[in-house]
Amino acid sequence: MGVFNHPEFDHHDSIHCFEDPASGLRAIIAIHSTALGPAAGGCRRWTYASDDAALTDVLRLSRGMTYKNAVAGLPFGGGKAVILASERAPKSRALFEAFGRAVDSLQGRYITAEDVGISVDDMRIVRGATPFVSGLPQDGTGAGGDPSPWTALGVFHGIEAAVAARLGKDSLAGVSVAVQGIGHVGIYLCRLLHDAGASLLVADVDGDKLKSLAEELPAEVVSPSDILFCDADVLAPCALGNVLNSETIPRIRAKVVAGAANNQLAAAEDGARLTARGILYAPDYVINAGGVISVTCEYLGDVDEAGVTDLVAQIGPRLAGIFEEAARTGEPTNVIADRQARKIIANAA
Ligand code: NAD
Repeated sequence: MGVFNHPEFDHHDSIHCFEDPASGLRAIIAIHSTALGPAAGGCRRWTYASDDAALTDVLRLSRGMTYKNAVAGLPFGGGKAVILASERAPKSRALFEAFGRAVDSLQGRYITAEDVGISVDDMRIVRGATPFVSGLPQDGTGAGGDPSPWTALGVFHGIEAAVAARLGKDSLAGVSVAVQGIGHVGIYLCRLLHDAGASLLVADVDGDKLKSLAEELPAEVVSPSDILFCDADVLAPCALGNVLNSETIPRIRAKVVAGAANNQLAAAEDGARLTARGILYAPDYVINAGGVISVTCEYLGDVDEAGVTDLVAQIGPRLAGIFEEAARTGEPTNVIADRQARKIIANAA
């Protein structure tokens, strides 16, 4: 597959490939835009079927970060990193040191943080090789640490806004929510939803996670193959991308789709497919911005935890504005969000 004619290329500023034979590191860092500031976006470690699959993933994620940071009002552009996981390159100190050197070589044009497959401890090692990293625990009341609880809080506010707009309810009491994936974000989201009186349906491919959730919260366990189509008011995808597509959308029974996963729509047209079925979709990069709000506040060091809480709470009203425009114009919510992002970026140029 070519690079400049790649379907996801979308005028990326730059794409960087790194190899470190000693540790086995193979990584791609994609910088989509620096129009609003340095490109901020996490690092994902994943086993890809091919180099092309890794390139496609990093390009889609990087562009999504440009839009996410713009709509969240952050002074950052968009970028993303992927580390290609393989038996030749197990997680090791040397691997993350090599990744840190790769990030450092970009001299601050890209700032990294945790994403899927990366822990706070991994990022601590990266920090040893570069200052251009965030998502590390802070002392006192400073913003920082694992972004997942903040992502979950933003998704929770987004679900509240979507339920108000689509179901006309000003509380989540008695609302059923199907959560696909109870990993770092999903588990925090389940706790918030339970505390708000929602009933939970959950699925995960990891039985241990289901077991520990069952010890903590009441939740109906659904098989991974059924969770997208179960009888719930809200579907919250919190696992994988591409779950909303021409095959799944006709079978979804929820009235609202609002979850943390990046790149939920397989293609932009899937937004219109959801609208045509009367399903209100919370654009992924708008609802899941809580984590990046936390890591960028940590990076800038200008806002404490209470300030991050306030900024993340704005995700609800921001989505309510998109839902209101969608109701007025009939446009899909993803189209409205993309337009808002492009306008913010164009105004900065
Ligand atoms: P995670 O890896 O901790 O959790 C994902 C969970 O999904 C895991 O428990 C995994 O077993 C489960 N899963 C995988 N395939 C599944 C399937 N087919 N059916 C059901 N469950 C399945 O990741 P995370 O950090 O919780 O992130 C979840 C999603 O949210 C990802 O798409 C990520 O890109 C996105 N996101 C995360 C953050 C963050 O702060 N962590 C921020 C923004 C977006």
